[in-house]
Amino acid sequence: MSEVRTRFAPSPTGYPHIGGMRTAFYAWLLAKHYNGKFLLRIEDTDQERLVRGAIKQIVEGLAWFGVIPDEAPSNKELSEIGESWDGAPDIGGQYGPYIQSLRLPRYKEVAQQLIDSGHAYRCDCTPEMLERERNEQMARKELPGYSGYCRTRNVSAEKPHVVRFKMPAKVSLVLQDAVRGRVAWDNIPLRDSVLLKSDGFPTYHLAVVVDDHDMKISHVLRGEEWLPTTPLHLLLYEALQWEKPIFAHLPQVLGPDGKKLSKRHGATAYDAFRDDGYLPEALFNFVVLIGWSPGEGEEQEVFKIEEICRRFTLEHVNKAGGVFDYNKLAWMNGVYIRSLQPDDFVARVTPFLEKAGLKVDPQRFGAIAPHVQERIKLLTEAAPMVEFLFVDKIERDMQQMFKKDIDRAKARQILTLSLERLTKLEAFEIAPIEGVLRPLAEELGLKVGPMFGVLRIAVTGKTITPPLFESFAALGREKTLSRIEETVKLLE
Ligand code: GLU
Repeated sequence: MSEVRTRFAPSPTGYPHIGGMRTAFYAWLLAKHYNGKFLLRIEDTDQERLVRGAIKQIVEGLAWFGVIPDEAPSNKELSEIGESWDGAPDIGGQYGPYIQSLRLPRYKEVAQQLIDSGHAYRCDCTPEMLERERNEQMARKELPGYSGYCRTRNVSAEKPHVVRFKMPAKVSLVLQDAVRGRVAWDNIPLRDSVLLKSDGFPTYHLAVVVDDHDMKISHVLRGEEWLPTTPLHLLLYEALQWEKPIFAHLPQVLGPDGKKLSKRHGATAYDAFRDDGYLPEALFNFVVLIGWSPGEGEEQEVFKIEEICRRFTLEHVNKAGGVFDYNKLAWMNGVYIRSLQPDDFVARVTPFLEKAGLKVDPQRFGAIAPHVQERIKLLTEAAPMVEFLFVDKIERDMQQMFKKDIDRAKARQILTLSLERLTKLEAFEIAPIEGVLRPLAEELGLKVGPMFGVLRIAVTGKTITPPLFESFAALGREKTLSRIEETVKLLE
């Protein structure tokens, strides 16, 4: 196989959607698998829908997942369209510009080539004429589309005009799609589509074909929503006598209700997942598995990125849409969190603690961190669990202490006796703390669960925390005892 070159070609019209990023992941994985190149190309031909800063979001989003393009817009290209930023990676490449609005002369040239070879023509029909034509077609219950009025009019290049593709009559086409297999179109009812608009900007169809050709793309991976436009692209390749790339139309990412994944279902922008405390490697693994599996009947679900790269080919990309199961993602994130090296876990979770307003004492947190690591699925879940360690005052909901066997008087007794025994400890450490509290439960004829629950609320204010003795030891003698004392008073 000649060099595998894939591309991700987003339109910068909003924040990157996780379903769209999966397309980028697949394209990147395919290139990495075959030691090829992965390109980022910005398709900004629809100037009305551009969103400022979207390119930065796309580049930084991919980088967060470790997906770094081999070729991408250079900083110079970004500043030419007023979209550069500090710290942009300045990638560039030999087939640039990688931003379509900087390639207008090239599209014009190809449009002219198509006119010269009789595959395209200039059209000066006004919007009003087109509107009238469309209404008449609708009234006749025909598919609306341009009738071809200017095909033979030889409109002068001096006049304002668009360039249209001259659709061959009754054409049938077959595509061997790398994912969907054989796709056939019979008697395509396509009308003469616009290739170049009157403002000199190309439409998506012309730009995508020219760029995929010029950038030597070997595999076009894109969402299946683009499949209906593919016949026109195939015809353009034929008209230009260019070799066609391999096409792979990817199945949709669906929400739990089977509809296309959207904000209605939950987070869809990558930064929302990041801020919710998902690890990029977990999200990457999870997203890749929606629509791809390493092989028939494979049970394994958790993969290192390198392993996915090694095993990723288009053969095992599904034809059918895959569901984005938020519960499964949370489970997988927990698996990834537990597999982090302890130091790495502390480094990743600390910013989340700080964002929650906690002034983290690294030593105190280090002691308890492994217990937190075992208990959370999202990095954001750590802050409420360890808040008690880093604040002076805690809030308690006393009602949460009272259970079947524990009323107010009992709770006070538990706390008073615990205080008495803990005070006497020489070393305020995990084993001795446990050594006095467990027997106390037996003495009082209580189950440890509810009894420790009382102590937990007294000292931490929470019902879910790291294990009790470890929590007390991490908090230290003074604060632990004073919080128990304070609660005894509150119960009087
Ligand atoms: N610019 C298109 C998009 O925004 C890309 C389609 C393609 O990859 O050909 O999704």
